[in-house]
Amino acid sequence: MLEERPLVGWSDVANSDEIAETIRKNKRSAIVWAWILTLIFPVGFLLAGLLSDEVPLNEALIIGAALGFFILIINVWRIAGMKKPAWNGVVMKKIEKRRDVHDRDDGSTRSYWEYIVLIRTEKGKKKRIVERERDREMYDYLDVGDRVRYHPALETYEKYDKSKDEVMYCNVCRLRNSIHNDRCDRCKNLLFK
Ligand SMILES: [Zn+2]
Repeated sequence: MLEERPLVGWSDVANSDEIAETIRKNKRSAIVWAWILTLIFPVGFLLAGLLSDEVPLNEALIIGAALGFFILIINVWRIAGMKKPAWNGVVMKKIEKRRDVHDRDDGSTRSYWEYIVLIRTEKGKKKRIVERERDREMYDYLDVGDRVRYHPALETYEKYDKSKDEVMYCNVCRLRNSIHNDRCDRCKNLLFK
């Protein structure tokens, strides 16, 4: 049994050896996945070019390489972002926005809701959490005035004052847990409290 951890304040768990090891593992798997996703399109289009009579080989190679390069850039950008230091901020505003998507094929319009949490960092920068439809957990979890910390290595948020909450989110796998848990029900990592 762990000692009762306070529900107000930034968690020390983020700096523990155990989470440092989890972060190292996460980064390794992010790099492995980046390579797999980068290679999938060039290899797929190469095979399509070789095996199909309808796809000219040179076109297939160009398209495959272009998509692979595009995915590589996105992943390099994401992994570089994971190395950035944590930042703190305050929730300034929550916005619900209706977005329309036009389907060019049949001319129909479909709309969905976007849920945006606006945060001002201690350095005065504006950050946004954008969620969609039913996937609006941070939108429901965070209130205007809440102090939050972003952990880039895990790409998740921590709330400074958890004392009024019944739930909290795992900073490793994002599962919603009871506030009384010490470890996540799913990934068994320490919760950030
Ligand atoms: Zn978890």
